[in-house]
Amino acid sequence: MVAALSIEEPTELADEGASLEFGRNLAQSIGSGIIYFEGSLGAGKTTIVRGWLRGLGHSGNVKSPTYTIVESYELSEKSILHIDLYRILDPSELEFIGLAEQISSADLVFIEWPRNGEGFVPSPDFTIEVQYKGDARLVTCSG
Ligand code: ADP
Ligand code: MG
Repeated sequence: MVAALSIEEPTELADEGASLEFGRNLAQSIGSGIIYFEGSLGAGKTTIVRGWLRGLGHSGNVKSPTYTIVESYELSEKSILHIDLYRILDPSELEFIGLAEQISSADLVFIEWPRNGEGFVPSPDFTIEVQYKGDARLVTCSG
């Protein structure tokens, strides 16, 4: 499929607005599944999720789940989770918050720092990797 191939080409995102727009476009092409976000701190993972949620009709604030671990949304008749495992030191911590159960009842799940939850988070349907490229960013999608 041409659309699927073109999305796997690395794409340069010149500024925050481009990242928001990129997320907004993904909202039109991917409706459900487990989406991993890879890339270092400040690479722009949350920014893409913010654009994606706006693409699904969210007009309010999108809080980074760095401290809360999970933020949930009900949008376009979908149950959506935005998870950030940056602060998780041991995947077994996720057992206490029942993360696996929450994930299994959601339609669309964004996970930043998925490797910190190894064994407690399902494998991805789609992976989005963001890297620094000077002041801009480079994004690569696979899945
Ligand atoms: P992460 O979730 O990967 O830690 P954030 O999404 O919180 O990163 O973004 C960190 C910073 O990078 C923010 O200040 C944001 O405005 C900026 N940013 C996001 N995308 C881009 C981009 N394409 N080019 C330049 N700066 C960006
Ligand atoms: Mg983030």
